[in-house]
Amino acid sequence: MTRGRLAPTPTGYLHVGHARTFALAAARAAGGTLIYRTEDLDAGRCRPDFAAAAIEDLRWLGLQWQEGPDVGGPHAPYVQSQRLPWFREVWSLLQATGAIYPCDKSRKDVERSLTAPHAEDDAEPIFPPELRPALDAGHDAHEPGPTNWRFRVPDGEKITFDDALQGPQTYVAGRDFGDFLVWRKDGFPAYELAVVADDHAMEITEVVRGGDLLLSTSRQALLYRALRWTAPAWAHAPLIVDAGGNRLAKRTAGLSIRELRQKGKTPEEILAAPLNQLLS
Ligand code: GLU
Repeated sequence: MTRGRLAPTPTGYLHVGHARTFALAAARAAGGTLIYRTEDLDAGRCRPDFAAAAIEDLRWLGLQWQEGPDVGGPHAPYVQSQRLPWFREVWSLLQATGAIYPCDKSRKDVERSLTAPHAEDDAEPIFPPELRPALDAGHDAHEPGPTNWRFRVPDGEKITFDDALQGPQTYVAGRDFGDFLVWRKDGFPAYELAVVADDHAMEITEVVRGGDLLLSTSRQALLYRALRWTAPAWAHAPLIVDAGGNRLAKRTAGLSIRELRQKGKTPEEILAAPLNQLLS
């Protein structure tokens, strides 16, 4: 039985891209269980009104989930900001494997050490290996403390996984992505740790999400391996592009579910009509 999930981050109103990815997640979990999880760990950018609006918008679209903040369920709470003790526990599990280390390097330190310019403007810079501490750094820590923690990636290793929608994927650790954050010095887990911790705790069998997270999935595969947890199946929806081939993420004005609804568009149109038709 599939256990799928919808996991929006409430930093704004959901748009048509979210609507379509979430509808796909719901369809693939049909007959099984769909859970709804609010990923609100970025306290500076997330807002409770956006979290409430997301639930309302998706219900209006006709999506139905069986577990979530508005319906409870055995894995409650479904709001990540209420799950910090669990994330701390997962930090401890990771720390015990020796896979993560405390990192006091600032963004400036990283920039100064970067020799090659990054290939794409929005590509995350690879954390320079020469800034890593000694192998045993942080091994005697009992709590994360006010410092960042990173996962030490196996340089040069090919990380492969089969995506249910996009086929076999290969990323090279240390080349496509570097040592990534698992814990932030502000006391919150980083996205990669939180999402793996919760997909595991909520017994998710298939993760459906946007194609912009494919690279993140290779990091998450490393976390599953370090924790000796079985990874879920992954299905990354192709990114929605407009008629000019521009990624929707770059152009969301006028495409929030709210605005489209106010303009009289139906759920069916929002889920399936060509973008130019929605914008007219
Ligand atoms: N909360 C993330 C986002 O809205 C998605 C996380 C995921 O699906 O793994 O971008």
